[in-house]
Amino acid sequence: MPLPYPPGARLLARPEAVEPCPTCADPLGRGYRTCPTCADPVDALWKADWDALPADDELPATVLAAPVGTHAWTCVDWAMRLLSCPVCRTELGTGPACLHCAKSDQARWAWDHTAPAGAMTANEHAIRMAVAALRGAGERRDTVIAFWRLALPHLLVGAVPTQAQVGRIRVHLIAGRHEELDEAPGFAEMAALADLPWRSA
Ligand SMILES: [Zn+2]
Ligand SMILES: [Zn+2]
Repeated sequence: MPLPYPPGARLLARPEAVEPCPTCADPLGRGYRTCPTCADPVDALWKADWDALPADDELPATVLAAPVGTHAWTCVDWAMRLLSCPVCRTELGTGPACLHCAKSDQARWAWDHTAPAGAMTANEHAIRMAVAALRGAGERRDTVIAFWRLALPHLLVGAVPTQAQVGRIRVHLIAGRHEELDEAPGFAEMAALADLPWRSA
């Protein structure tokens, strides 16, 4: 019997537009995860799915031990948050330079790669990557983290950048154009920042 691959992050409505966070004044979501007001609406998408599972003390371990596609990807992530790494003791999957964490983080992405059509949208895959990275999983290069911080408020409202836009935005990040990117109303505007005069020659 094929595994169900229940979708994740679809129980709650997304905010309709990017609005300033009442606490930190950045676009809501950009302060993830240091600003609790920014983190709440993001984490709520995961927690709604987790709370829909039957309560059980062993649930985090059970969810992680189940074959890929048994539970929603959000529940896999939430189980990892609830468990600490037996080797480095930080949140499972986020320990810097910890091989066990690296393996746990790698394993979670099997969901995205094997899910049938319709089980996960490009936006859901991107917001999953953003939140994992901002919690410390995977690659820690400054430009990667900066990209996800920049992107999260827009991913939260359902937007998704094209590969070409991601490439352009990375170029602007490497050039240090953080203020202009921070103020752009969406991915298209971030990607469309004009080349700096000294670069366009
Ligand atoms: Zn905030
Ligand atoms: Zn670890």
